[in-house]
This record gives sequence, C-alpha cells and structure tokens, in this order.
Amino acid sequence: MTFTTNGLVCGHHHLYSSLARGMPAPPQTPNSFISVLENVWWRLDAALDLDIIYWSAALGAAEALLNGTTAIIDHHESPFAIEGSLDAIQSACDMVGVSSNLCYGVTDRWVGQSMQSHVAPSSKMSDEARRGLAENDRFLKAGGRGMVGVHASFTCSDETLETAADLAKQHNVGVHIHVAEGPDDIDAGIRLQNLAEDNWLIVHAVHLDQQIKGTLAHNPRSNMNNSVGYARPSRWAHDVILGTDGIGADMLEEMRLAYVRHREDDLTASPDSAWSWLKNGEKFFPEVKRDVVTWSYDNADSPWHVAFTPGIRCLSVVRDGTVLVEDGVPTQFDLNEIRTKAAEAARTLHERLA
Ligand SMILES: [Zn+2]
Repeated sequence: MTFTTNGLVCGHHHLYSSLARGMPAPPQTPNSFISVLENVWWRLDAALDLDIIYWSAALGAAEALLNGTTAIIDHHESPFAIEGSLDAIQSACDMVGVSSNLCYGVTDRWVGQSMQSHVAPSSKMSDEARRGLAENDRFLKAGGRGMVGVHASFTCSDETLETAADLAKQHNVGVHIHVAEGPDDIDAGIRLQNLAEDNWLIVHAVHLDQQIKGTLAHNPRSNMNNSVGYARPSRWAHDVILGTDGIGADMLEEMRLAYVRHREDDLTASPDSAWSWLKNGEKFFPEVKRDVVTWSYDNADSPWHVAFTPGIRCLSVVRDGTVLVEDGVPTQFDLNEIRTKAAEAARTLHERLA
C-alpha cells in the first residue's frame, strides 16, 4: 500500500525569511522576545528589496513543494519595499506551482528611518501603515488571493487596527495577525476582541487569556525557538491550523513536532490532534484535496504511525493531472536557477546586514 496524502498546507509562513539562513550574527545576543525581533527579524525585513523578496519567496516555495506542501499562507513585511511586494511573492509562488494566500503586515513601528518596539494605542496611524494598507488594498482589488495583514497589535495604534479591520470587511476577507506571541503583546486580546471576526487568522496566541474569533495558526517550532512558551492550541474554541512562522515548510515534520510539544504538556495527548490541525489547512485551499502527494514510506496508516516515523520524504506531487515533482525532483521549474539566484540575493542581503 502506497502512502499518499493531499497536498499539505503551511498555515503561517514568512517567505521573506528563506534567505535568513547563514545571515551575520546579530549585533548582540537576543535575551528576550522583543530583542529577537529587534536584532534579527526587524533588521532583516528592513534590508529587503523586490528582487530579494522574489528569490527568497521562490526558494521558500520550491522547498515547500519538495516537502509535499502545495499551499502557503504568507505574512510579509518589507518596510523599505512595500509597493509591489505582494506581486513579487505571488509571481514566485505561481512560477513554482504552489497556491498562496498573501498579505502585507502593517505596523506603526517605523517613524521615518527609526524603529520603536511598542506603539501607544492612542497614537496616529503612521505613513508606513498607510502604505502597507494600500498594498493590501491594491493586491486584493487586483484579484489577489489574500487577507489584510497586521504585524501585531503592540506595534499598531488603535486607528491602524480599526482601519485594517474595515479594509478586510470591504474585501470580504479576514485579518492575518500575530497575537500575544510574547508577553509584550499581553493586551492583544482586549484590543482585538471587538474587532476579530470568524475569518481572521490569529497567529500564536501563546499569551492570550481569552477566546477571540478566528482560526488559530499554531507554530510549535518557532514558539520553542523564541522561548515564548506553549500556546496550548487544544484549548482554542475554533479551528487550529499548523504553520512554521518562516522556518521552512516541511509540514509533516511540523506535525510531528506539534504532537510531541502537545504530549510534553499533556501525557494523554494523541497525534490525532496535531494531524487534525495539519488537515484543517485544507479549509483555506480546497484545491489541495485534488493534489496527490506520494511519500517514501508505504505503511503510514495512522497519525500514530506518521508521528513515529521521522524522515519520510516526498517522492512525487501531482496537481490537476500535472506532475510537479517526480522522484523528488521538480519538473516544472529549474531548481538550480532558483538556488543560484537565491544565493546571489542572500549575499546582497547578508552584506547589508553585516
Ligand atoms: Zn509570524
């Protein structure tokens, strides 16, 4: 019996981080959630341009496909290359052949060229937030598949949060937002509870005390890596999906990790929960149910079996009758070209960060 699945879904990605691997060490070793953002991610996103965004997304999408992941919900930020950034990511995903749901994460944390870690709720909407909202609006108006992105409430004024929620309503889509990832965003639940809708994508919710509306995107590896704590996704009243928060898109591996993290917290947990979180991603991309992914192991007949069989590789991916991956090799694009161009873009990026 061959083990096949539908196409897998990464429910929260940052394709712009594909070239972060090998980047120069941060100026100081981060010792808190905020200093991880300040010293790593907010320096990286400020160094992006449209060419780097494209090749980073192409590499991330190609690596996703080679892991049987045929659909990605992405959250993007590039404060000095906002306009057109979602088109660049869309083109890269289309070239590779994976479905995508994109958004630009708006924030008020930039004042001109300088960055602030927290933004007072009462402050006014910044120019950067206005430009980010315009990029979401432009992309969605042009027929792009996506949501309205918000970085997180602790870097946004109330005006920006409310305007983002309104824009999402106008487009009949949800808001894709990081919520209470670290203790610094502890007010997120109070600030968002009257804005959130069922179609919102709530990312992390590690430090969220109350239920708010929306699907939860759980990212176990990222939460461990940032030492922010365990989200306990099984307490969430609505759907849970699995994401990677930018650390690749090997979703079978993320499912195994979600299971053992769940088990560490609760000895009675079974891998059925993590498997259901993985499968829930299909609600965002019905087309993945028609994909056929074949794996290098032929008896994975239950979530228990998958959970205890590390190293299962994706052998082939067929989408709408077209073979996208055969014997582990992509057939519709030149992987060597993507790797070469991504390596050039990474050199430029890393020089800017040095
Ligand atoms: Zn994220």
